[in-house]
Amino acid sequence: MAQVLAERHLASGHVAWVAMSEVIDGDMAIGNLSTRKKSIQEASQSLMERNAGLTIPSSQHWSFLTQVHGERSIQVEANEAITGLEGDALVTTQVGKVLTIQVADCVPISLISENGAIAVVHAGWRGLINGVIESASQELERKASGNQVAIIGPHIGSCCYEFGRQDLEQFVKLFGSLVIGNTNSSSPSLNLLTIVQLILRKKSIGLIHVDNSCTSCDPKFWSYRANRTQKRQCLFAWLEKN
Ligand SMILES: [Zn+2]
Repeated sequence: MAQVLAERHLASGHVAWVAMSEVIDGDMAIGNLSTRKKSIQEASQSLMERNAGLTIPSSQHWSFLTQVHGERSIQVEANEAITGLEGDALVTTQVGKVLTIQVADCVPISLISENGAIAVVHAGWRGLINGVIESASQELERKASGNQVAIIGPHIGSCCYEFGRQDLEQFVKLFGSLVIGNTNSSSPSLNLLTIVQLILRKKSIGLIHVDNSCTSCDPKFWSYRANRTQKRQCLFAWLEKN
């Protein structure tokens, strides 16, 4: 069952919903015709059938990206859905537009502006270095200026995200030594959550929810690191009128 990570009543009068699919909701690796992946319609319909208790807008209002570990944010305007443009964050002020990010270890994040806008962000180690959170936050501020809060979905934990010492150096230079963790077998690892938290603090974005599940440890989630799967869970978020 999809888990609701946040139901937030905003100063603007909107309600922001943020939810996360699980393996049981089906593969959410979405593509267009050329990628031979599931269509957004198939994926969203199977998810909605399993989660009838949630009032999720119908599939023609779902947007997805071709995620490239960059920092580009794409706007979703009225009367449109984004179907596979390259980017790593989606932003909207429109009610009833479902923004999605597909992951299997990378950190899925939602940013919410209290003045009526939401963003979803795909943040792996490359995206974090490329400034994807900062870029999405800036775009959100442009659309609805004001306080922002963040929700972090399940991602690979430092328990499982082994990294070579040399590869960790670039992260230490950028974010400090707290980003080095230890795996269950005591090898050095990268702590993605710590990096995200440092960036949010720097941008004065309040963190209102963290799902600490490790996608590699927890069988409820797909994990690329664990078994090179091409399957994905998705974080999905939308605005509702109060
Ligand atoms: Zn783990």
